[in-house]
Amino acid sequence: MLEVQNLSVNYRGVAALDDVSLSVGAGELVGLIGPNGAGKSTLIQAMLGLVPSRGQVLFRGLPLRRQRQAIAYVPQRSRIDWDYPITAGQVAMMAQSALAGWFRQPSSRAKQRVAVALERVDMLHLCDRPIGQLSGGQQQRVFLARALAQGADLLLLDEPFTGIDKKTEALMLGVFAELQAEGKTLVVCNHEWGEALHRYDRLLLLNRRLLANDTPAAVMTFDNIQQAYGQGPQVSHTSSAYADFFC
Ligand code: ADP
Ligand code: MG
Repeated sequence: MLEVQNLSVNYRGVAALDDVSLSVGAGELVGLIGPNGAGKSTLIQAMLGLVPSRGQVLFRGLPLRRQRQAIAYVPQRSRIDWDYPITAGQVAMMAQSALAGWFRQPSSRAKQRVAVALERVDMLHLCDRPIGQLSGGQQQRVFLARALAQGADLLLLDEPFTGIDKKTEALMLGVFAELQAEGKTLVVCNHEWGEALHRYDRLLLLNRRLLANDTPAAVMTFDNIQQAYGQGPQVSHTSSAYADFFC
């Protein structure tokens, strides 16, 4: 379903991703793991065509960046401008506007889809709240609702478990299981190494290059953790991008 072929990204001459190739099958729950600065967000953004890259990314055999509407993307929290004056309901509605055409009013069907999605993540009652006034977990659930309302077959989620509460974690895991049961494909970024990684069907271990691509048990070895995480201090990237908000 998803084919990444020889993907490389340079930022001002420095390689953030080096010749990454992988494939993801329909209905898989895949964890993309690696330390801060490993290139996880870059890989997701390059797949979507949000940063310039070399290589190819195919979704159902065609370039993915031309099918963005068919793919739901939940950006990393640190890359979102939480001061942007917009309500939770408007965030959840965003993909609908893009589907219908930016200058058309959302149809009542689109509004219904969004309401159902917000209800599914227990956020409908807070839909008029400015997004910046919600807790981290609530914000993450609103973005998940946006992805659900889009009805996409492929969901790319960047660090959805960072900075959230237990209720949101449980709710998200439940939604992931339901989505998988519906045959949807999920790629979820994660920088923490731990037992929770066993929830994935498969792990992709990244640190600029793809270091491992196998079952959690096979990837979570001492050698792999040394190779990926044991390389001195990592520099994390903190700039926010409005572009993430609008895709
Ligand atoms: P991860 O998501 O795994 O933490 P990123 O993809 O954010 O990693 O970053 C990979 C590397 O690329 C880091 O060294 C980061 O500082 C750098 N980087 C990310 N985005 C940019 C950018 N827009 N401009 C310059 N360097 C960037
Ligand atoms: Mg990241």
